[in-house]
Amino acid sequence: MKINLKEVTIVTACPCCGEANFIEANESDYWDWKDGALVQDAFPYLTPNEREALVSGFCPWCWEQTFGKEEEDEFPDDPADEMGFNPYLGCYDYDC
Ligand SMILES: [Zn+2]
Repeated sequence: MKINLKEVTIVTACPCCGEANFIEANESDYWDWKDGALVQDAFPYLTPNEREALVSGFCPWCWEQTFGKEEEDEFPDDPADEMGFNPYLGCYDYDC
């Protein structure tokens, strides 16, 4: 089997902003991937961002905007609530 190390540039368009991503890879790896190889097996030398662009087309910026904000800080609970403060009686539950 002949090893083909010809470099190809794969162009993907981000579905979010339309930004083109240019990913350089070996042509033989590209065909392996098209034949069903997992992207991380076919292109072990690409960065996670580049692999993501191949799979979904998302550019790193849109990926971050769309999927990277799952851990928003919630407002901390009011500490007075946790102490059982009763605003109607003006005292703590355990103290009323
Ligand atoms: Zn984008």
